[in-house]
Amino acid sequence: MIGEPSLLTNEMVQICTRVIPKNKIRYLMGCGYPEDILESVEQGIDLFDCVLPTRNGRTGMAFTSLGKVVIKAGKYAEDDAPLDKNCRCYTCQNFSRAYIRHLFNAGEILAGRLVSYHNIHFYMQLMADIRKSIQQGNFLQFKRNAGKNFNFREG
Ligand SMILES: [Zn+2]
Repeated sequence: MIGEPSLLTNEMVQICTRVIPKNKIRYLMGCGYPEDILESVEQGIDLFDCVLPTRNGRTGMAFTSLGKVVIKAGKYAEDDAPLDKNCRCYTCQNFSRAYIRHLFNAGEILAGRLVSYHNIHFYMQLMADIRKSIQQGNFLQFKRNAGKNFNFREG
């Protein structure tokens, strides 16, 4: 599914989940945008892996509960807020957007590590929240609410 347009991917996921036995783990390789993960979970996918959290982290793109943050943008030059005000990760608890942006501009490798750390935490939290919503029987409601800010594929 890597590199295919998301509509085609969704169509293929629907076809595959109809024929793959329900008692087997369903793995979708290379599906990494949070909005695609939500769609795929709805279709019955159980397991994912993708480079996006770290690849995008290394280049300064953070996945946040409120959408995409491209930390190199000038608007963050004096922003004392964390990458994601709703995040409890080490990066968000200890570093501001302005400082991380400064690290990128200075060519410090720590910048990419900090954003990658946050992104991995974001994905782990997303999957934990998905599992919890499934167990509580309200996945579709969770998908609607969480997905409102998920526009990571765009731009
Ligand atoms: Zn964070």
